[in-house]
Amino acid sequence: MSIYTGLVFGMAREQFLLVADHLEIEDQDRDRLLYPKRAIVVSIPLHTDDGQTQVFQGYRVQHHLTLGPTKGGTRFAPQLDVGEVAALAIWMSWKCALAGLPYGGAKGGVACDPQKLSPRELEAVSRRYMQEMIPFVGPNTDIMAPDMGTNEQVMAWFMDTYSMYKGHAISEVVTGKPVSIGGTAGRREATGRGVAHLIKLALEALKLRPSACTAIVQGFGNVGSVSAYILAREMGVKIVGLSDHTAAYYDRAGLPLDSIEQHVKGKGHLAGWSSESSVDPAHLLTLKCDILVPAATERVITAANAPHLACRILAEGANGPTTPDADQIIEERGDIFVLPDILCNSGGVIVSYFEWVQDLQRLFWTEREVNERLKDILDVTFGRVVQRAEKDRISHRLAAMTIGVEKVREGKKLRGLFP
Ligand code: NAD
Repeated sequence: MSIYTGLVFGMAREQFLLVADHLEIEDQDRDRLLYPKRAIVVSIPLHTDDGQTQVFQGYRVQHHLTLGPTKGGTRFAPQLDVGEVAALAIWMSWKCALAGLPYGGAKGGVACDPQKLSPRELEAVSRRYMQEMIPFVGPNTDIMAPDMGTNEQVMAWFMDTYSMYKGHAISEVVTGKPVSIGGTAGRREATGRGVAHLIKLALEALKLRPSACTAIVQGFGNVGSVSAYILAREMGVKIVGLSDHTAAYYDRAGLPLDSIEQHVKGKGHLAGWSSESSVDPAHLLTLKCDILVPAATERVITAANAPHLACRILAEGANGPTTPDADQIIEERGDIFVLPDILCNSGGVIVSYFEWVQDLQRLFWTEREVNERLKDILDVTFGRVVQRAEKDRISHRLAAMTIGVEKVREGKKLRGLFP
């Protein structure tokens, strides 16, 4: 009986088994590839502002250490559990292998609602989480990064906590830090920039002009907002729909991003911006558009709404937004160009890798250099996924995962089983 349970882990497992069948991986090798190397569960006690003590559960799952240290984000979310964290770690493994990065996948987080913590409480939870993880992470073992509910400031606290313990500044233990303490130019925008660039490649493949296209973006945090801004401002795509956990808006004539950006800067969320273009968030994903970007959370495209999607391109900014049964429906429909999550949002970990390399070398690159190198990797990876899908007559998701799993499998085979 495994400790990894839940719908999200079930999805990662189901997807892996499809790849394992496709590659005809023997049963005896499947568990070794799928199940994580290590899972760490900690209690994080906090002195709350009202003088009470509250304990949160924290996790870190390291999927495999075959090709280098593990790498992955840290999520602060109320319903987080070890199965979800493990699924995200597994996806990170295939994502890093697909992009050719020398990492295994990891993921971690704290089951807390960061919106309900004061700034002092958030700092205390962040520092205590890193403190508990010090024996298990490090620049050569496991490098953390931001994810939902965490940001550059949290990464700065992680780096400081780790560095104070070691006695000197170790910027390379986390990525997604502020530039002034060893972060890289371009990291904040990297995931959204990657999403937008891959959409550009998909549009070229479909012979569609960006300026004639419309997009709907679900989630207006780091990934969603940057994707929307770059699509609109650098590519001329019309953004017709946007949502976050507080509101959803749709306007066929196009939403005014400058006004929405100002509102979100002030309020921190979309709610309250307009009542006229407000729509039911549940229906936003099935409204007509050329490009649909789920950039919020897992399992939002399901068997219930997949038949009604009205887009040409599905660009998965979020991790795991599409369930396997929805995948099957989309494949049978055959009219949607899918940019699967482990390709579509890989810009984040690619630029995180650049940040780690720069920190290790103490040699920093310009933003132009970062963006050019990011595009080079995405161009190659996009081509490999599309070609593999055509060659094997499989979906883009299965092709992307197949390339990732193949690489990890080969590494494990060459290194052998110790002892
Ligand atoms: P974030 O915390 O900055 O933003 C999340 C956004 O999603 C917020 O706007 C929130 O309001 C919204 N949201 C949450 N639940 C929602 C719902 N049910 N409906 C609509 N909106 C909802 O997080 P992020 O860093 O932008 O991450 C978003 C997704 O992208 C996650 O799946 C994450 O794992 C993935 N991702 C992030 C990065 C990165 O570099 N930040 C890299 C790769 C993948």
